[in-house]
Amino acid sequence: MYVIDLTHYLDERGAIAPQRGPARKFADFVTTVVADATNFDRPEETPGPLCFKCRKRDQHFVATAVTEDDLVIWHCVACGTQGQISKWQGSFWDLS
Ligand SMILES: [Zn+2]
Repeated sequence: MYVIDLTHYLDERGAIAPQRGPARKFADFVTTVVADATNFDRPEETPGPLCFKCRKRDQHFVATAVTEDDLVIWHCVACGTQGQISKWQGSFWDLS
């Protein structure tokens, strides 16, 4: 279970801080999850973000949601990876 504070991945302007490497990939994934979970107008059949753990060519999508205590959560059915993200409110990826 990944427990993420989104602000740890952002710079002082609110943009993604890591420039390259695994940290950047993970930050891209986490922000995509926030945008997906908070976009309440998203049609049900739209696939979620691609799982960062599964191999890219396997195209496994994660399910996202916002919990009652305002955590963004994700879960990959294929590999079982899951996580929760806090402090996403007001970020560029908060579409709620
Ligand atoms: Zn996965």
